Amino acid sequence: MPKPTVGRIVLYRSYGTPNGEYDSEDRAAIITSVETDEKVTLAVFNPSGMFFNACEYSEEPKGGTWRWPTITPVMQGVQPGTNICRSCGLRKEMFQDESICADCLRKARKDPVE
Ligand SMILES: [Zn+2]
Repeated sequence: MPKPTVGRIVLYRSYGTPNGEYDSEDRAAIITSVETDEKVTLAVFNPSGMFFNACEYSEEPKGGTWRWPTITPVMQGVQPGTNICRSCGLRKEMFQDESICADCLRKARKDPVE
């Protein structure tokens, strides 16, 4: 796992309340100091306020611990051949980050819009 350094954004797992009024949830947090590779102090951003705390690393989401966020692919689920072209409206094979098909793209390049 990456070494924690000051300024990195991580997830803090909040404690839920014993009677379930509040669930244990992930919160955004910034590392404010590093004690060891596992123990850091965090500035934790809750929707209703901030607090500062020393926390231990845990790969499993456990109340009072921190871990690295999971990176979600930007265009998750978008595959070539499954997209509808924004220009011609046809279902065509496209690169993951394109919103118009290769034919329309070629045409657009050939006939630049003034
Ligand atoms: Zn098209």
